[in-house]
Amino acid sequence: MPTFDPSSERALLDDLRAVLGSNKVLAGPSARKAYDCDAYTVDKSEPLAVVLPESTTDVQTIVRWCLAHGVPYTPRGAGTGLSGGTLPALGGLVVSTKKMTRILEVDLDNRCLLAQSGAVNKRLSEAVAHAGLHFAPDPSSQTVSTLGGNIAENSGGPHTLKYGVTVQHVLKVTMVDPLGEIVTIGSRTENLPGYDFLSLIVGGEGTLGIVTEAWVKLTPNPVKVETVLASFPRVRDATQTVADIIAEGTIPAALEMMDRGIMKAVSLAFGLKYPPDAEALLLIECDGAPETVAAEMDTVTRLCRANGSLELNVAQNEAERLKLWTARKKGIGAMGRLAPSIVTQDGVIPRSKLPEMLDFIAEVARDAGVGIANIFHAGDGNLHPCFYFDDRDPDQVRAVVAGGDRILQKCLDLGGSLSGEHGIGVEKLDLMETMFGKEGLVIQADAKRVFNESPLCNPCKVLPNQKSCVEHRRRWRGAAW
Ligand SMILES: Cc1cc2nc3c(=O)[nH]c(=O)nc-3n(C[C@H](O)[C@H](O)[C@H](O)COP(=O)(O)OP(=O)(O)OC[C@H]3O[C@@H](n4cnc5c(N)ncnc54)[C@H](O)[C@@H]3O)c2cc1C
Repeated sequence: MPTFDPSSERALLDDLRAVLGSNKVLAGPSARKAYDCDAYTVDKSEPLAVVLPESTTDVQTIVRWCLAHGVPYTPRGAGTGLSGGTLPALGGLVVSTKKMTRILEVDLDNRCLLAQSGAVNKRLSEAVAHAGLHFAPDPSSQTVSTLGGNIAENSGGPHTLKYGVTVQHVLKVTMVDPLGEIVTIGSRTENLPGYDFLSLIVGGEGTLGIVTEAWVKLTPNPVKVETVLASFPRVRDATQTVADIIAEGTIPAALEMMDRGIMKAVSLAFGLKYPPDAEALLLIECDGAPETVAAEMDTVTRLCRANGSLELNVAQNEAERLKLWTARKKGIGAMGRLAPSIVTQDGVIPRSKLPEMLDFIAEVARDAGVGIANIFHAGDGNLHPCFYFDDRDPDQVRAVVAGGDRILQKCLDLGGSLSGEHGIGVEKLDLMETMFGKEGLVIQADAKRVFNESPLCNPCKVLPNQKSCVEHRRRWRGAAW
């Protein structure tokens, strides 16, 4: 394979434009800067150029061009990823699906639809709302994040607790593999025999090929939905309520928690008011048949009261329900009011360990000398501690990176996992061996080789110690290292 020579940049770009058309190539300093990271802003690396394919064949042309010239490439949807998955770690091309947003076919009889991978999550549900259906995976970024990004990260969301993560809602994908071949994996009918390669692609973080189209399942909208926002004087009261609800055998559609840091941010951003003594909020939603919802809400509100809730605010109509969701859906964005930068961590622990873990997170933030707020899928034990800090100060950046590692290490110590939904990307490479051991990583590397032997397709992600990545890492981290 030829090796990418950055000094021949100009000639490469001319060739790329000739092959793809200049309207599909963005180059120049502002394009490079705009695509040098995703929503994980600690690591940065500029691409040579950004390409904007419109179809599967365009993507194939790009991948084949990259193979011919030894140019690395990184798939990208909306760039809302939180672990650096879209970082063009070795430069090369960012392959953006910005122009691949079409819904190609809707099959209401079989409750599924086919969309291009750049289609925004929320648009899928909007397209079938008239038929009382929706696409169930609902990451809080769903108004901008794309189907391809959701597939690559196996995204979850507030309603994952009851409805499952993306892999449970994808039937079939078309992708361009790292050899430049167009392949389809899966089927419009469920439960295929043989090895389940679809589950490898979903959650593969874009390291196994570029997904261009996917058939996804559609879920009927619930007949009845009830939502309550409960406030608590202590974080421990809220986490105990979560443990009690699950222990009683009730699985709400959503069971989300936010702490005082998030309340402060959304109060500043949207003027929302919470009881002055509240240290934690639980947002609980029950859905389904009316009698089931009534019984679940009885249980939920009883347990909130038993754990000392200060206030129970039950939505009386859809407008009120959406207002109650504001803190959860817009909480991370609102943190821009607290500091110039945030880093959102993502780890999983057994739910019973929530009180201990939240105490530990507060201690880590104190030691690091930066702010912390928590907003997370409490029902799944999927934590999102958000550090807020000033990324212009390298000491603060280093403290945040080290603090994040401490939190993830603690998740592992408590029997949990490195990621519930944001993936490994480049952020968590160093902890992969701790979680899987050397042998576990060998199996993962073997699995990757089924689709991708080449170092060109989204290099330096998920698996640590990839050739040519280690020496480049110092460069991505810049001043922070
Ligand atoms: C405010 C906020 C809230 C969030 N809430 C949630 C949440 O509730 N749940 C959750 O799971 N995540 C959440 N996220 C993280 C993020 O939104 C998800 O991971 C999302 O699925 C990423 O989609 P994207 O289109 O932005 O992908 P990108 O960030 O562009 O890419 C993410 C990864 O997918 C790969 N990729 C993108 N497109 C393709 C493709 N077509 N083929 C192959 N690989 C591809 C990229 O290479 C990268 O590795 C949140 C992020 C933000 C900023």
